[in-house]
Amino acid sequence: MKIIVFTGAGISAESGLKTFRGEDGLWEDYSVEEVATLQAWRRNPELVQEFYNIRRKAVSEADPNAAHYALAELEKEADVCIITQNIDDLHERAGSRNIVHLHGLITYSQSSIDPGLRYPIAGRELKMGTYCEKGSQLRPHVVWFGEDVPMMDKAMKLVQESDIFITIGTSLQVYPAANLIHFLPETCEKYLIDPNAGNMRELNGWNLIVDKAAKAVPELIEGWKSTGKFNKQR
Ligand code: NAD
Repeated sequence: MKIIVFTGAGISAESGLKTFRGEDGLWEDYSVEEVATLQAWRRNPELVQEFYNIRRKAVSEADPNAAHYALAELEKEADVCIITQNIDDLHERAGSRNIVHLHGLITYSQSSIDPGLRYPIAGRELKMGTYCEKGSQLRPHVVWFGEDVPMMDKAMKLVQESDIFITIGTSLQVYPAANLIHFLPETCEKYLIDPNAGNMRELNGWNLIVDKAAKAVPELIEGWKSTGKFNKQR
């Protein structure tokens, strides 16, 4: 039995990291065009670095919450893969091992001419004047709006193999990531955990859990364990 978990900014909200949209969302303070596109990088790289340096500091000061930990525990019981849109490393720090970062990882840099050249960022700040081994400026290892999503093919294949699919804390408005749900097998059990789940676009046949992740994710998993779901289906 293969469980695929698809997470978005909402799973990290209770760890103190701002979501993308909504009240007090990141884009209340910044516009996407200013900081999260290739054009922004070409126009004002210092501002882009500053934006991600602030985000990286926030990530380094945040801790995983009960939802991240419950998913890491689930990996001990079942075949689990997390596909995350998040650029934070809270799944890793909670102990999950099988993770696909669709939109990159803020704790890494990449060469601005060769995205394959990646380096862990020592400390919290990536500065202009820091170069890759081929001599080009390092940028944050994140997928900006308008850029290709190199991990999309891998994610699509995983989704097609899922027996259980759990979506947590995503508005399903960022593409192409949001298209993943269209590749689910018909027989797959589907769950959506989000306080806004009741208002989301039509999701026929989904189990909608209108609640916050740190409460609902451990509850769902504990419920499965207590009914022996994994023993039966392994
Ligand atoms: P989004 O902001 O568009 O949607 C967040 C969703 O989380 C909303 O549906 C909201 O109702 C829900 N939510 C809020 N609090 C929640 C909680 N406590 N528990 C469960 N759900 C909760 O975010 P998105 O759909 O992930 O798309 C945004 C993009 O922004 C992603 O591509 C991601 O790369 C990026 N982003 C990442 C982070 C991060 O790494 N932590 C933070 C902000 C944005």
